[in-house]
Amino acid sequence: MELAYEEFTARADQILEEIKAYCLACGREPSEVELLPVTKNHPVVALEYVQRYGLSCIGENRVQEALSKKEQFPGHLKWELIGHLQTNKAKVAAIHFDRIQSVDSIKLIRRLAHGASEADRKLPILLQFNAGNDPAKYGAEISEAPFIMEEALSQQNLKVDGLMTIAPLSENSDIAKYTFNTLRECRDQLEEEFSITLPVLSMGMSGDLESAIFAGSTQVRIGTALFGQRN
Ligand SMILES: *Cc1c(COP(=O)(O)O)cnc(C)c1O
Repeated sequence: MELAYEEFTARADQILEEIKAYCLACGREPSEVELLPVTKNHPVVALEYVQRYGLSCIGENRVQEALSKKEQFPGHLKWELIGHLQTNKAKVAAIHFDRIQSVDSIKLIRRLAHGASEADRKLPILLQFNAGNDPAKYGAEISEAPFIMEEALSQQNLKVDGLMTIAPLSENSDIAKYTFNTLRECRDQLEEEFSITLPVLSMGMSGDLESAIFAGSTQVRIGTALFGQRN
């Protein structure tokens, strides 16, 4: 990554401005939407930039890569796992991440709960849904949401903060809109059914930020627009 810090700050300023503008355009408070820089496939210097700029969390998509970066960069960032998690890595993920966004099966919920219990912690999670019915994406089916939520809520060592989705890659922005609105509706229904609050809706990336914010996103996960193309 040949990115100078000045270039990074210019891009980050720009994204925060966009978030603000989209919020104002749909009557939301800009402070409701958090920017999660996605540092996957970028070197440790990306993490240094994030911290120096004053942002507090980063998203990584692979356990191994994140652990090796964490060793090189102790810092005080919060680490969020946003990529697919295999059950055989659940235990180590439950120890090392501040939050896991890619929780999409009963089996994974049980493994994570077990790992969190052994680590004597309450692990924050998001449940990931394939709200756009994309065969190329992970995430549970929306129709399974009540079962998955029931299991997650039954685990004392897990704390369900909200939901996450990835929109299908498409030129047609209606597909992203549909996906994000579907996730928000799912969140609203779960809140009512279980009498809980699910404050976090992690949705929106470099290419579909606007639709995500209009649909109620509270966290946008941005890689390319901050750090450039990944290797
Ligand atoms: C890579 C990734 C992102 C960031 O995507 P960009 O298009 O580079 O902004 C967001 N969310 C998830 C789950 C990712 O894997």
